[in-house]
Amino acid sequence: MDNLIKASYFLTVVLFVMGLKRMSSPATARSGIIWAGVAMGIAVVTTMFWPGLNNIGLMLVAIFSGVAIAVYSGRKVAMTDMPQMVAIYNGMGGGSAAGIAVIELIKGDVHSSGLIALSVVGGLIGSIAFSGSMIAFAKLQGLIKGRPITFGGQKVLNLIILVLAVVTGISLVTGGPGYAGTLTFFGLALTFGILMTLPIGGADMPVVISLFNALTGMAVGFEGFALGNEAMIVAGTVVGAAGTLLTQMMAKAMNRSIANVLFGSFGKEVEEAGASGIQGALKPIESEDAAIMMGYAAKVIIVPGYGMAVAQAQHKLRELADLLQEKNVIVKYAIHPVAGRMPGHMNVLLAEAGVPYESLYDLEEINAEFTSADVAVVIGANDVVNPRARTEKSSPIYGMPILNVDQAKNVIVIKRGQGTGFAGIENELFYRDQTRMLYGDAQAVLGELIQQVKQI
Ligand code: NDP
Repeated sequence: MDNLIKASYFLTVVLFVMGLKRMSSPATARSGIIWAGVAMGIAVVTTMFWPGLNNIGLMLVAIFSGVAIAVYSGRKVAMTDMPQMVAIYNGMGGGSAAGIAVIELIKGDVHSSGLIALSVVGGLIGSIAFSGSMIAFAKLQGLIKGRPITFGGQKVLNLIILVLAVVTGISLVTGGPGYAGTLTFFGLALTFGILMTLPIGGADMPVVISLFNALTGMAVGFEGFALGNEAMIVAGTVVGAAGTLLTQMMAKAMNRSIANVLFGSFGKEVEEAGASGIQGALKPIESEDAAIMMGYAAKVIIVPGYGMAVAQAQHKLRELADLLQEKNVIVKYAIHPVAGRMPGHMNVLLAEAGVPYESLYDLEEINAEFTSADVAVVIGANDVVNPRARTEKSSPIYGMPILNVDQAKNVIVIKRGQGTGFAGIENELFYRDQTRMLYGDAQAVLGELIQQVKQI
């Protein structure tokens, strides 16, 4: 049986790694998720055969209720709510690792100080990932204020709590894990997770969620070492490494250091939502004129953003792009790394609508091309095309690389009204001379444009 368990875990690990590899391209990502899901299924079933396992009935109840909740929520969740879904699922992973550590320490199942230390480290990281992810979920879901929540002496208090947690953890390793010590340790770690997440807000949330994802992976890995469970070690390490890379890439995409995300309380002093200091006026355009501009253009660059996701306008967008291409217009899609509300949000939606991957261009690939674009069409994007990110030091998005839409000859912005983007600030691009505002829900407006372009 032991060899069979080891062989199954080996298969699990191979599937995890291959699944992750497949997730690196949109073309193979779906199958990668299935491979990793199958791997997780094998790991769970294998674990049920672990020698000396008790409470199998309780475990089955937990597994079936977990599966039911996951299937229901996975089917129900709107694409725009994915970040909070990721936050809560991910937090559960950290919470599970912490839960294992609590049980192992209280039951006294881990004896050597080395193993206790591994449990303690995994428990600390897992608890922080759990409570931090819950706060991130609450912020993104609008259950608590999304903006940074700060108060005097916050950083000092956070530091004291972290130091106390670490000191208590060390005492568990040196003095042996007692009941009271273990609970105090976890209480402190959970409190630290909450307190460290409260001052983070605005556009930094995705980076933080990704960081907690990495921490969850590490916590699972540490607990895997403590329990001698190979599947947990590899799965945890893989998630930890992937999460760390994603965190770094997202921070880079927003031109921020991870330390600045964690300790900067960025976006607190948000500039006034009004058009302060912006010259010019908003100039509306009718869909008929916009269609003529696009239909007679040589090159059109499409910039999708969160509003396209809200409107579920990707299918209509593709239809419009196809029509333009039939009229020999070169059509390219410019994808900002943090457009939408999760990494790869636009890629997923456009792939769903059958837009070929070759038509999607990353920020670095496309930015030089805006000067040669006759028309840039901004569909429900705002922050990622705001030129103030380059110049306005007080802006919460200052320093974030943006798509150079303002360098296109003409810009058409499709949005419902004067709503601001995620960062809650006014967009200078909308007031520029070459910009025209095409107001309406993205799906409805694209429908009109399709009809108009057909008549050209
Ligand atoms: P923004 O959130 O900046 O702007 C979206 C715009 O879409 C709004 O101005 C809104 O204006 C418009 N809109 C909303 N609904 C519709 C609709 N039905 N039809 C047409 N327009 C609509 O989007 P971006 O994609 O430009 O920027 C993403 C922002 O989110 C960045 O600040 C990023 O940092 C942040 N973020 C990114 C995450 C990620 O991982 N990608 C995760 C979390 C946050 P109006 O109301 O007038 O219609």
